[in-house]
Amino acid sequence: MSLKLAIPSAAQPRRSPRAAELERAFYDRGMRPEYREEPCRTALNRVTGMPFRWSLNPYTGCVHRCTFCFVRAFELRADRPSDDRYGTSIRVKTNVAEVLARELSRKSWKRELVAMGTATDPYQPAEGRYRLTRACLERLADARTPIHLITRGPMIVRDVDVLSAAATRARLTITFSVPTLDRQIWRRTEPGTAPPAKRLEALRRLVEAGLDVGVGMAPILPGLTDAPEQLEAVIRAARDAGATGAWANLLYLRPGTREHFLARLEEDWPDLLPRYTALYARSAYLAKEETEPVRRTVRELVRRHELRDRRTVRLEPAPDAEQLSFPLAPGEAAPPIVPPGAG
Ligand code: SF4
Repeated sequence: MSLKLAIPSAAQPRRSPRAAELERAFYDRGMRPEYREEPCRTALNRVTGMPFRWSLNPYTGCVHRCTFCFVRAFELRADRPSDDRYGTSIRVKTNVAEVLARELSRKSWKRELVAMGTATDPYQPAEGRYRLTRACLERLADARTPIHLITRGPMIVRDVDVLSAAATRARLTITFSVPTLDRQIWRRTEPGTAPPAKRLEALRRLVEAGLDVGVGMAPILPGLTDAPEQLEAVIRAARDAGATGAWANLLYLRPGTREHFLARLEEDWPDLLPRYTALYARSAYLAKEETEPVRRTVRELVRRHELRDRRTVRLEPAPDAEQLSFPLAPGEAAPPIVPPGAG
């Protein structure tokens, strides 16, 4: 069966000439992303209202340019472009690892969980050249600091050595964002990311090395990726790849993300625009009646397909690796830290 036939009719994308032209133009010579090498003064960011208190982002901006990325909302609030220009200019914090090392060496540092990948993908293409995520992981491992890393980038496999070392120094968990296996929806909504199958292959290699790697199905898009058979396809593929767990979050649309996402939706799936306008008329978040059935289905699928930690090799912190502030007991599931755009 062709891919086109496998997609429900409501999900058939229509690409306007303008959108196709923009995408081509982005990768044409004249519109290569701009990389700004700008040192930083601080590396760790204090976070409130999340299951972690510190985040770390070696880059600002993300060339993956997902249409649903919630960082667009922050960009709007910071008076920076949240439209098609988002992801075309990336700040590279060239000294981030040195600054991080200084911060981690302070007596006041309590080795609390640090989340990477909350505002930009730490394995976007720039990392191939700058290796800042890798350097930061080394510093965090040196300081025996627990890490949770979220990515859509298979490049992470390059750093399996550093990740393995870090996992023996303090708790390390990784989430691969894989909201759908549908290639057309993936291509339209995540114009710069690697195909879902490549992410799952990368996940497999990390798990085989003994790392704790789960799947975050985020964001699930109403009417596009929330059909039970679509959810089941992801859960089954995640299980087959060896994922240690899976969770799902539904799309939310704050100002900045909302305008961009709905404009793309109107170009690709105009039939769905009235439904989305109604769903998000009153709030950036979906009502519980919309979210709970999807979450319940995912929980049931996880149970039915026995998606759980089946690692034959487990990299765990050595007995002398103190974990002063990690909020979970060993063996507990990784925290459902909301990745960019997860909703
Ligand atoms: S959702 Fe993640 S991968 Fe996509 S643009 Fe935002 S930060 Fe990048």
